Amino acid sequence: MTTPTIKIQTRQYFTCPNCENAHQFFIDHLVKRCMEEMRPQPFGPWYCHQCGTTIKGIVKGESSVEFTQCEVRDDAPKHCYVLLRHDPGNDASPLYAIVRTSHTPSELTTGDGLSYYYDEHTCPTNWVGQVTTLVWEGNADPHGAFEYVHAMTDAQVLEFLKKEHDLTSFDQAEEQGVLDHVLADAFHPYITSPPSRE
Ligand SMILES: [Zn+2]
Repeated sequence: MTTPTIKIQTRQYFTCPNCENAHQFFIDHLVKRCMEEMRPQPFGPWYCHQCGTTIKGIVKGESSVEFTQCEVRDDAPKHCYVLLRHDPGNDASPLYAIVRTSHTPSELTTGDGLSYYYDEHTCPTNWVGQVTTLVWEGNADPHGAFEYVHAMTDAQVLEFLKKEHDLTSFDQAEEQGVLDHVLADAFHPYITSPPSRE
């Protein structure tokens, strides 16, 4: 048996000045470059995925960061999960997909824009990251193959994960290999099988 070498890694980051600990902005690479090149390193615009704050600034040294812009954009996209459905018709079960993406708060509130976006506008190939092509009824550009059902913010999923599954974080769910099941569970109220037909 070999003895593992324990390594300790320190990372440098600042948190969103608007919502505090929610989003970590890592600056290791900029601090390193700042020291190597002996000059300040500008960055941004960076966006907080929790509250949408736009941040631009300058890394001036190991523990010196200055913000040149810091504004809360109400319409900035935030991380979310979107449930999409493919209804094959007849009595066959619909196919669902949960997509990890970002949308603006107004899109998430109404859902109207999302219905248009997912139902008509975008080709599924754009969001099914690891699939090279989707073919539906012989069509390799199947707009409308999925329809928008429901969206949950990270905060909402996290709350569900804590309450219903006794998990403390997304990382923990990922480590335990249960994130996909937890997400399916979180969206359960919106998943019907077999389809209800009017
Ligand atoms: Zn924030």
